[in-house]
This record gives sequence, structure tokens and C-alpha cells, in this order.
Amino acid sequence: MDFERHFQSELATLKAEGNYRIFAELQRKCGAFPKVRHFDASGEEEVTVWCSNDYLGMGHHPDVVSAMVDTVRECGTGAGGTRNISGNNHLHRVLEAELADLHGKESALLFTSGYVSNWAALSTLGARIPNAVILSDEKNHASMIEGIRHSRADKVIWKHNDWRDLDRKLKAVGDRPKIVAFESVYSMDGDICPMREIVEVAEAHGALTYLDEVHAVGMYGPRGGGISEERGLAHRIDLIEGTLGKAYGVMGGYVTGSTAMCDFIRSFASGFIFTTALPPAVAAAATASIRHLKASDIERRAQRDRVARLRARLDAHGIPHMPNDSHIIPVMIGDPVKCRMISDILMRDWGIYVQPINYPTVAKGTERLRITPGPLHSDADIDHLVDALATLWTQCAIAHAVA
Ligand SMILES: *Cc1c(COP(=O)(O)O)cnc(C)c1O
Repeated sequence: MDFERHFQSELATLKAEGNYRIFAELQRKCGAFPKVRHFDASGEEEVTVWCSNDYLGMGHHPDVVSAMVDTVRECGTGAGGTRNISGNNHLHRVLEAELADLHGKESALLFTSGYVSNWAALSTLGARIPNAVILSDEKNHASMIEGIRHSRADKVIWKHNDWRDLDRKLKAVGDRPKIVAFESVYSMDGDICPMREIVEVAEAHGALTYLDEVHAVGMYGPRGGGISEERGLAHRIDLIEGTLGKAYGVMGGYVTGSTAMCDFIRSFASGFIFTTALPPAVAAAATASIRHLKASDIERRAQRDRVARLRARLDAHGIPHMPNDSHIIPVMIGDPVKCRMISDILMRDWGIYVQPINYPTVAKGTERLRITPGPLHSDADIDHLVDALATLWTQCAIAHAVA
């Protein structure tokens, strides 16, 4: 086989469809967020980021930064190996206790990322619970889909956020161990699941509940415990999974739940056992970030204020944005080539960075800009973004919202 030709022709197809992924080259500057340096062929310039998942700017918070720097000075850089070989680092245990407390659970288990935590936990549960069936929301994240696939358990997909469909499908499965896997905030549409109904349906069928709170931890609930905390449902959910890489501004993933379940995953998950543990400094920084957001509501409130302001300004200009109850503002374009083009022009002419979201991340025809305002975006930043979008809307002949 001519491998090179195969690679090139597949890439050419992606490019022709407008679905080729181009990653901007950026450098964050501590203390300056959401301003970053952007590098391209013509040199280097400052741009404003509007699509970061460091939703609250915690990646630059002084307590978080000093926890990481101080720990590197004290403990060095890496963990020195897997926990299996090098032992539990004390700072990993401290972080796990913090996470268990965050969700009101007995135990927590750390992974190197949220992706790995979903992949490892779902593949272990699905593979090691005899005859299990996993019922997965149709919009679940790739990491859950891959974990379920790897488990080789039977999978049933239920309609997005449709608890009645879930109920029917649970009934149809009959007397087998059932796992219901879903998310709280879905990051592309920014919609929030009907958690109480889902939990009640799962309870009625004796199913185990597996909840991804990746886009909600740090962001919702009085202590940042996510939508399950905000709605008082955390104690009714068997496993809560989250990331330390988005609102907490660091890196890593975790699951929380009963001591036996976490020990079961720890004992059987290849994605936990055979990979080097997170650096202790990363664990210390994540602990500092979680502790801060347990006590402080300032960042969450400022974030919500920015979202409301941006939505109101978009409305004033008739720029269509998908309604939802979360912190994510999807601005709909509906065409992959235009979506890419608008993103390019925003960067080149306006100093604004918003990554286009195209297929396969979202369905064809629903291409969008996914905007995530944070507490550090100023009124002037918002005005500048809206001016740019209003100008482009006219130039690129994109439909306005009907008033
Ligand atoms: C980003 C994401 C993950 C993966 O988390 P990382 O820590 O980035 O690996 C898992 N689930 C959802 C819904 C996500 O959006």
C-alpha cells in the first residue's frame, strides 16, 4: 500500500468538506487572561480568547499558581511512576479526599485526565459487571463512548435528555445489571439534563447511575459540586465523574462514589494501573483550586453576569444564539466553510479567538461558534466581540434571528 498517498487523500477530503482541523498557535500569559499571544506566519500579536474551558480563569489564580510552583520546588516535577509502582503520593490522597468531600461521597479516584477517567471507569464497570448493559445518552462525550465500546458490554442509546425514552429502554432490557451514563451540562449545546427525572427513572429500575459533570464542576452548586449539588441530587447518583482541567484550570480527571466502587475501579482499570500518576504539583494546584471555589462564589457570579451581558448584546444585534441555562453560548452558523471563515476573520482582523465547531464534534448543518464568557472578560471585550460579529453577519450574509 502507498501509505503516504492514503494519508494525503484522506486529509484532502477533510479539507474539501471544510472539516479539516486547524489548531491556532497561542501562548497564555499568566495574569493577562483572557488576552493571549497568537503566533502565525506574519508574526505575533495579542488576541482575546472567547472559547476557553478555563471558564473561571482559575489557571491563573495566585493560590493555584503558587501551589503548583511551591510544590515543584518542594517535591520536584514528576510523580516518579504509576501509583502501583511508586506508591500513593500524599498529595494525590489529599486531593482525593477533597474530591470525595466535594461530591459528598465516600471515596474518589484520580486519573490523568477526564477522558481517561471516563474511558477507564466505564470500560471497567461494563467489562467487570457480569451481563451488564450500559444505557448511554445519545450525546455523550467521545470518552464515554470509547469507554463503553472498550468494555464490550451491550449498549443501548437513549434519546438525548429524554427520560421517558430511558424508562422504556430500561424496561425493555429486563432483569440484567443496568448502568445509566449521562452528562449534566452538554458542552456543545450548553443544555442541562433533567437530572431528577433521570435519577428517578434509574432508581425505579435499580440501575447504577454514572454522571459526567465535567462542564459543571467548579461552576454550579454552592461549593462548585456541579448540577448534582445545585439540585440536591448528588447523594442519589452512584458515580460522579469530573475534570480538573476545565473550570479548575489545572489537569486531571476523577471519579467519586462508594469506597467499594472506587476500590473496584482502582483494582481492575488498566487506564489507572498502568500509567504514570499526575505530578504532585498538579495535584496540589487542583486541590488549591477546588478549595478556593468551595469557599468563593465571586468567580461564578461574575461569570454569570458576563454571560447575561453578552447574550443581551447579541440579542440587540439579532445575532442568533442557542438558548440554554448554562454558561455556554452557541452562536449558530450552520455551514462548515462559513464557520471556519468567520473564525479566521475574527482572528486576523479583530484580534478575537473563537474556534469553529464543525462536524464530527456537532452534527452537519449545526456548525457554530461556541463562546464561553468568563469573569475576566471586560465590558469593552464584549462590545468588541459583538461589533465584530455584527459586521461579519452582514458581510457573510448569515441569517439574523427573527425578532
Ligand atoms: C473535555 C471532556 C471530557 C474529558 O476531560 P479532560 O479532562 O479534558 O480529558 C470528558 N467529558 C466531557 C463531557 C468533556 O467535555
